[in-house]
Amino acid sequence: MISRNPNLIQLSSSYLFPEINRRKQEFLLTHPQASLISLGIGDTTEPIPESIVEGLILASVQLGTRKGYTGYGPEQGMAELRKKIASTIYFNSVQPEEVFVSDGAKCDIGRLQMLFGSQVSIAVQDPAYPVYIEGSLIQGVKKIVFMPCRPENQFFPDLSHLQHTDLIYFCSPNNPTGAAATKKQLEQLVAFAKANRSIIIYDSAYATYIQDPQIPKSIYQIEGAKEVAIEISSFSKMAGFTGVRLGWTVIPEELRYEDGSAVRADWNRITTTLFNGASTISQWGGCAILEEKGMQEIAQLASYYLENAQLLRETFQRLGYEVYGGENAPYLWVRFKGQKSWDLFQHFLENYHIVTTPGSGFGQEGEGFLRFTAFGLRQNIHTILNRLS
Ligand SMILES: *Cc1c(COP(=O)(O)O)cnc(C)c1O
Repeated sequence: MISRNPNLIQLSSSYLFPEINRRKQEFLLTHPQASLISLGIGDTTEPIPESIVEGLILASVQLGTRKGYTGYGPEQGMAELRKKIASTIYFNSVQPEEVFVSDGAKCDIGRLQMLFGSQVSIAVQDPAYPVYIEGSLIQGVKKIVFMPCRPENQFFPDLSHLQHTDLIYFCSPNNPTGAAATKKQLEQLVAFAKANRSIIIYDSAYATYIQDPQIPKSIYQIEGAKEVAIEISSFSKMAGFTGVRLGWTVIPEELRYEDGSAVRADWNRITTTLFNGASTISQWGGCAILEEKGMQEIAQLASYYLENAQLLRETFQRLGYEVYGGENAPYLWVRFKGQKSWDLFQHFLENYHIVTTPGSGFGQEGEGFLRFTAFGLRQNIHTILNRLS
């Protein structure tokens, strides 16, 4: 028999969500009557809005007709959707040819990691969405630099002390901290990447939750970003497409390797080699999202979750908790100084029957924090507020 891929051996066994489940089950064994409410997993809960579902239905019906049937589409995505993403999301500051449609941001992160290979060094925010690190480890990346993001630095890394790396992963609005980087911060980040000849991999999966008009929804709102940044994004949290699966990646033509060749050309090669395109049904759904009606519907969806966040935020503040996020992101990041995340998790489980996510699961800097998601039924949020008060 062959031996295991050594890159996989060094991954810590996926611990966070299985352990949350184990503790949940254990608690339910002794408290079978308890009605647990989960503010744990980052998944949407509201149904997909009407005009978008109509887009999905229409696409499915078409596939059942001789005239409307289509097989494989272009690996890079349907021209119509690429055009709509470029115009509706980026106001034509990027070209449709620079937009690559995917089956989700997470899958594209994995393919980007393959694009850059094992020899690159990377920087990641701490705490962070686990795929940036774990996907890199699977590729065999050896050098990982952590950028602590704490309340004390407004969740933005101190770039004056940051080592040079080839890639910089940056997620804003952030999962798990709920922090959204300001224009000034992003200008610093782009300037840093330029000075160090690094590439920023900017995850904007939560951009639709940004309410503050001063906060950029895309890295390309920063001058010069097209020379240093790739943007990955997704319809998942934007339109409840977590199960439907649809995302995109922007690789600007200006983004070049040291030898002057275009990163975009290599990405096109990876895409055509390893990916056969996102589902055509999903893509027609994506087109429906980007219509005027769809955009209104998803804005309402974001408002609903952000009202949940607001309710939780107000109650937490009233109770004297140290709470961050929830204003431009569907996550609340709550610090309980001097306590351990798993103890806090257990406390909320046993005393309030609420499932949360221990901050330590997102990195060392998450210790002492809990993440609460704002996804969920309003009714459940009210129940939680009653239990806490
Ligand atoms: C949920 C999430 C995504 C979206 O992933 P999909 O594969 O598109 O569902 C991307 N980045 C972050 C940080 C997320 O939390």
